[in-house]
Amino acid sequence: MASYLARGRKRRSGRLATRGGWENPRPETYPIPFAPYIQAGGEVEKVPIMLFSIRWLYDITYASDVLRTIIRTITGETFKNGLDIKEKFKSLCLKCNRQFEEDIMICPYDGSLTRPPDYSEYIRLKQFIDSGGNKFGEKPLEVLKEVDNDVNITDNGYIFLRKDYYYDENGAIDGADIVEIMRLSPEKMRIVMSAHGGARGENGERYYFCPIHRKELISMPDNDENVPRCQICNGQTLEAWFGAREEERPVYFGKDEVYHIKRWSHTQGYGVPPMYSIYLKVLALLKMDRFVVNAYSLQRSPQGLLVIKGRVENLRKAWMELMQKARENPYMIYPLVVEGEENTKRIVEYQEFSLKPVDFLWVESRKEYRETIGAVYGVQPIFVQGAQGQGLSNEGLMITVTAQTINEQQRVWEIFFDWLSKLLGAYDYHIIMNRNELEDELKRLDIADRRLELAKNVAALGFNIRIRKDSNGILDFDYVRENEDAVQEERDTAPDKDVPPPKAEGTKSKKKDDSLSSVQNDEDKVNKPGFGN
Ligand SMILES: [Zn+2]
Ligand SMILES: [Zn+2]
Repeated sequence: MASYLARGRKRRSGRLATRGGWENPRPETYPIPFAPYIQAGGEVEKVPIMLFSIRWLYDITYASDVLRTIIRTITGETFKNGLDIKEKFKSLCLKCNRQFEEDIMICPYDGSLTRPPDYSEYIRLKQFIDSGGNKFGEKPLEVLKEVDNDVNITDNGYIFLRKDYYYDENGAIDGADIVEIMRLSPEKMRIVMSAHGGARGENGERYYFCPIHRKELISMPDNDENVPRCQICNGQTLEAWFGAREEERPVYFGKDEVYHIKRWSHTQGYGVPPMYSIYLKVLALLKMDRFVVNAYSLQRSPQGLLVIKGRVENLRKAWMELMQKARENPYMIYPLVVEGEENTKRIVEYQEFSLKPVDFLWVESRKEYRETIGAVYGVQPIFVQGAQGQGLSNEGLMITVTAQTINEQQRVWEIFFDWLSKLLGAYDYHIIMNRNELEDELKRLDIADRRLELAKNVAALGFNIRIRKDSNGILDFDYVRENEDAVQEERDTAPDKDVPPPKAEGTKSKKKDDSLSSVQNDEDKVNKPGFGN
């Protein structure tokens, strides 16, 4: 693992020197109005104060079939196509550092030579992605999925890059190798922050820790620019950006070691769990499930109601009498005797509450709850009812994740990959996520769907509709009036402007699309549907 990191170490050391040089005095810090939505308390590392405990969020998520399925599907779709490595440019000017998408030898701006991306960076990234895993035997992709799960449940995910640090003879950090990538628990992670900024205390002080002795925190006042040395090993320290509650004393982490990822909220500090918006509905669904379980396990529906008919004053009198007798001897069952109305046939009726879930319109409200929960996550939960029985016991769940959700999800991850690629010493290449083909397909279907809707409306106005495919092979329509058919014939044979000129046989569409081929074949038959007639 060390070989591909050697170069990263060299470059990193340059970076650190500039960062740690402090030749320019850092500006005075002063508190700013800083009030993150998730408030946090504590001295150094701030403890988030949430509506729910993080553990509760996990418990409810795992107890809820809807939430669990939604989250599993999102994570599955996001990472479905795995990771890839891509160069950022084809050529780079050696003088002005401009990047070009084309492979050119000479920079057009200053006439200097260019160079291609450094392929050794590709190898280094590739080795990292494929590496054998961390202490828990998890490969990087598995770690990312775990963190994605955390983000979807708590909107706070933490990735830790464990590094081996190298020191020069004076104890200054000379470089670092990334040796492991692992998930840190959102239950234990804390952010060091205050109104003075990240890694700052309430009075603007900075906190430092030694990467070897992580439990020893050194506090430096606001006006002191010096980076302190570890009091145990005299090694250079790092600024503490994160802390983790671990045993009796916290463990601290630096900015280039831990990546805090949020997805479902755009807030300072801690992310806001999506559960904030949906917990009532999730709980209602769980309670409904419990009701059904009770009805089955007790072999009966909840109680009925005893209706007694009669004159109210008579009834009250009899009832009071009964109560008095019951007080005198609670073990005796007394009959309730009342004078009946003249034409009353039955004095006492038992109204049974044989509640079936359908009677409550549960199926409807459950559907709505699920859809609302799905909307918060940007998915469409579709429940497919089983072949027999009522919906509650025989449902299957199918989740449709919108392309937008996956895009946004992947965009958030790609910011992380840029961070990671640079820490691995790669500047010409970066890790990317393979894009989802589903997205393209959905877009095409969406376009076709809208065109079909429009065509229906146009047909209702008395136009004839002709089905064709556009230059991208997507379903499209021509609208013709009855007597314009001849003109239309001509236009049809003309090439689409995006498509290369037609070949000798003059076919209309070059691209064959399997999904639409049946439409294409039937084209002549459907040519003039009788819509307008
Ligand atoms: Zn140039
Ligand atoms: Zn130390």
